[in-house]
Amino acid sequence: MSDEDFQPRIAILGAGPIGLEAAIYARYLGYSAEVFEREELPAKILHHAEERVLDRPFSERVSTLGVAALQAQDSKWKFPASSASLSAAEYYRSYLLPLAESDLVSDSLRLGMEVVSVSRDTEEAWQIACRSKLGQETEFGADVVIDCRGKGSENFVEEEGQSTESLCFLNPVADYYVLGSKSCVTAEEFLFASGLAQIRELFAILGEREDLDVYATMPPIEWK
Ligand SMILES: Cc1cc2nc3c(=O)[nH]c(=O)nc-3n(C[C@H](O)[C@H](O)[C@H](O)COP(=O)(O)OP(=O)(O)OC[C@H]3O[C@@H](n4cnc5c(N)ncnc54)[C@H](O)[C@@H]3O)c2cc1C
Repeated sequence: MSDEDFQPRIAILGAGPIGLEAAIYARYLGYSAEVFEREELPAKILHHAEERVLDRPFSERVSTLGVAALQAQDSKWKFPASSASLSAAEYYRSYLLPLAESDLVSDSLRLGMEVVSVSRDTEEAWQIACRSKLGQETEFGADVVIDCRGKGSENFVEEEGQSTESLCFLNPVADYYVLGSKSCVTAEEFLFASGLAQIRELFAILGEREDLDVYATMPPIEWK
């Protein structure tokens, strides 16, 4: 295989909203991706938030790619009105869960797999060590790690002398990217749209392109 044909294997840590969006973006572009989620359900934090109303409407919590994929898979799939104020559980049921169950993502999803360490071997590939709920340990290899484990998760990889707080999307560790709320200093700072912008930027970097915006190539969402 020539260098030009090389497609990195991608490991995505965490299946929250941003991990799922990163997964569908990767799979849409044809990358081999695996998503490791420690819980038995994707985005469990939102599933369990239940009736708490989210502060932003549905239209600001979805991507055009995600909506297009769900509509392509099931023409009867109904999404809430763009301005609908949703509870966390409604958002979970109407978007995040179908996304996780979509053809593009479901094959890649490893639920109940907690990532316990990430290190590089001598061949410069990442080794992702995971522990199942039953305590069984398994290792996976990857060329690129996308860390979407959310706020409060400890850092696996640090450059010497760098504080954990400064590990962010543009961190200097090669082939290790931190996205979503984990890349923000405070949870309040996190905006879903910024997470999508990070995904777009990251895949442009991986594809060695100035710009690569799959979201812009998707049909506009026709809100009812
Ligand atoms: C009750 C509640 C209400 C909220 N309301 C709002 C709101 O109104 N507006 C708003 O913007 N935000 C709100 N949030 C915050 C919102 O949930 C986060 O901003 C959003 O989920 C961040 O997405 P993320 O994908 O970056 O991270 P997360 O959603 O935190 O996802 C991280 C995922 O990584 C998994 N994970 C962590 N460690 C590991 C590991 N070692 N191995 C494998 N998997 C791992 C976690 O289980 C999780 O599924 C609320 C949160 C809660 C709990």
